[in-house]
Amino acid sequence: MIQQYILDIIYIVGAFSFIFGIKLLGKPESAKKGNFIAAVGMALAVFGTIFLYKGENEMHLKNLEWIFGGLIIGSVIGTMMAKRVQMTQMPQMVSFFNGMGGACAALISLVEYHHVMAVDSIDVMPVMETGKAIVIYLGLIIGSISFAGSMLAYLKLDEKIKDKVLPFQQVFNIGLMVVILGIAACSIFGWVAIPNSLYILLAISLLYGVLFVMPIGGADMPVVISLLNSFTGVAAAFGGFLYDNKVMLFGGILVGSAGTLLTVLMCKAMNRSLVNVLIGNFGGGAKKGEARAITGTIKEITKTDAASLMKYSKKVVIVPGYGLAVAQAQHICHELEQQLEANDVEVKYAIHPVAGRMPGHMNVLLAESNVAYEKLMEMDEINPEFKSTDVVLVVGANDVVNPAAKNDPASPIYGMPILNVEEATTIIVMKRSMKAGYAGIENELFYNNKTRMLFGDAKKSLTELVAELKNV
Ligand code: NDP
Repeated sequence: MIQQYILDIIYIVGAFSFIFGIKLLGKPESAKKGNFIAAVGMALAVFGTIFLYKGENEMHLKNLEWIFGGLIIGSVIGTMMAKRVQMTQMPQMVSFFNGMGGACAALISLVEYHHVMAVDSIDVMPVMETGKAIVIYLGLIIGSISFAGSMLAYLKLDEKIKDKVLPFQQVFNIGLMVVILGIAACSIFGWVAIPNSLYILLAISLLYGVLFVMPIGGADMPVVISLLNSFTGVAAAFGGFLYDNKVMLFGGILVGSAGTLLTVLMCKAMNRSLVNVLIGNFGGGAKKGEARAITGTIKEITKTDAASLMKYSKKVVIVPGYGLAVAQAQHICHELEQQLEANDVEVKYAIHPVAGRMPGHMNVLLAESNVAYEKLMEMDEINPEFKSTDVVLVVGANDVVNPAAKNDPASPIYGMPILNVEEATTIIVMKRSMKAGYAGIENELFYNNKTRMLFGDAKKSLTELVAELKNV
């Protein structure tokens, strides 16, 4: 009995550590601490369950060698992956780990189905309580979709697989979902006996996960990643119901709701409706037809000219993008900012919500190089300021400054709010070539009369710019 009380207290401490951890994760300076606190809470909950939980017939958990074997192997692999991963590969890793969570939830349903059947069944006719059946079937469906979808997202982010839209993809996806729900309902409520329905659902849900993510491309991946994240949370929460484990339920609900909130915010940032997301109607903003032809010429600028232009400006806004992460140019970018400020230039950073390859990517990078948090301006805050900005320095950003999102209805990113950099007096764009960004489309900003291109690796160019600034 006393063990149960201690376990309950451990679960409450664990649950609070998750909330407190998430709160601290909200700011770069306290994020590490938040991660640590939540991890300690999770470890407490896991070890508390292993050593204090008593199940049927007051028995402690069995199969400890399997449990500890899994814990050790998982911890070693996780630690190695986390140590080796490059900052630019973080989104892939997040997708991969999210997929593992979904797979766990699906496996719990598979295993517990047979367990519950064995315990609840009357000899002749296997039956299951409707409540338990709902939890098991939904956990399996959502976990499998999340697993398959996350794995495909991982392969797509790693550029191992390209977007593919099959004929009648949306109708097919909706049809598949109807079939999944139909089979689940028949099995849960016992309307029709479908042999091996759980395994049929597993196969169809995996297929749905793949087909759901397959057509999503261009600039729309962030939305689907956070949506899959919320799926995994919900699937884990079903596991919590099943085991009557409060901390698992709590953790799952937290992940599910945080993922849902992030999905809604991402939808807003990408100007997509949630319904479009759910039926896989990405790129829905684009109307049929050819993308508008871009006219104009590219004008380059030398590092010396760029440095003196910025040095004699009143206000410079830096727009970081995925290229900043690839070049690992965040430290030198901070140095450039300090050099400009030493020359009485006001410097701010414009952060687009989907710049980079994961939510908060730019904030994390810039915080790593000690850029003051208050210099990071969100899109809505900074957009009105571009009119009064002398120079915008675009460092490895492309899609998030592409005016086609505002003025080309045929563009796949049409409707996505962007940073209005073209309103500044001069725009300097740093990138290596004329290659497209993540959405794979041309950018008319590069041909704008006010734009000057500074070609080269961002880190190298910024280093040379800093040197020039010290000279001019
Ligand atoms: P983009 O992917 O649109 O563009 C990045 C640019 O950086 C490229 O055009 C590339 O040009 C340049 N670049 C790459 N390496 C370097 C380098 N070493 N030095 C200098 N430049 C470099 O990035 P954005 O940040 O503008 O937009 C993010 C995109 O990713 C959006 O479409 C978003 O929807 C999508 N996305 C965002 C996610 C998120 O959660 N934030 C998740 C998944 C996708 P070049 O090759 O010529 O150098």
